[in-house]
Amino acid sequence: MIEINKYDKIIVANWKLNGSFAFIKDYFKTLNSTTINSNVCGIICPPSSYLQNCYLNMDKSLFLGSQDCSNYKNGAYTGDISSAMLKDNDCKFCIVGHSERRQLFSQKNIDIMEKSNNLIQEGIKPIICIGETLEEKKNGNTEEILKEQVINSIPDNSSNCDIIIAYEPIWAIGTGLTPSIDEINKIHYFLKTGIEKYQNFKILYGGSVKSNNSSEIMNLDYVDGVLVGGSSLDPVEFSKILNA
Ligand code: PEP
Repeated sequence: MIEINKYDKIIVANWKLNGSFAFIKDYFKTLNSTTINSNVCGIICPPSSYLQNCYLNMDKSLFLGSQDCSNYKNGAYTGDISSAMLKDNDCKFCIVGHSERRQLFSQKNIDIMEKSNNLIQEGIKPIICIGETLEEKKNGNTEEILKEQVINSIPDNSSNCDIIIAYEPIWAIGTGLTPSIDEINKIHYFLKTGIEKYQNFKILYGGSVKSNNSSEIMNLDYVDGVLVGGSSLDPVEFSKILNA
């Protein structure tokens, strides 16, 4: 079982719907030549059909993660992949509640809680994504929205050993826009202190992280790492972020 609390920084690559066997071969030829500091937990989340191929190609100082999983354990759920199947494929982490799944595939907090429970039972750490829309931010509702998402999507009986939270403002994902450095720190401070039960949870920031802003973001007092989408597809760029 991986002890997430022993790492100073957790850095996640979310490849989304990208990749191929040829891409994976080239990617890890470059990334495997990077030495990853032992206080950094680096996680690669490819599409599920490439989990095993990534596992075979990647340096074993990295961990494998999935981008989602089923709410169900087995049965007539065509197209789904269960947490037990992810475990069979050497997954140690799984992103759940990404805003693209919430918005495009109608996933609700209750689904995210069910998935997280199933994952924890298999010894896989859910990376639970939360975040506000631009409209919610403009209306000054960010903290209220985040609190509601945290309370309703994190299983009650879970602890900071089981779960990672990723704060991803929806308007910052894939847009090149980010909150200011002060805003990121302020929101992470709120998440770590404003909702009693979640004080010691690891909280990552995600949304347009690149090698040129990653070290400033990761050095913030209340940020425990980053979740990287677009920039994680370039192994040179991602290795700079791993070493930021
Ligand atoms: C993401 O996919 O979670 C993400 C943060 O994407 P990007 O880094 O491209 O904004």
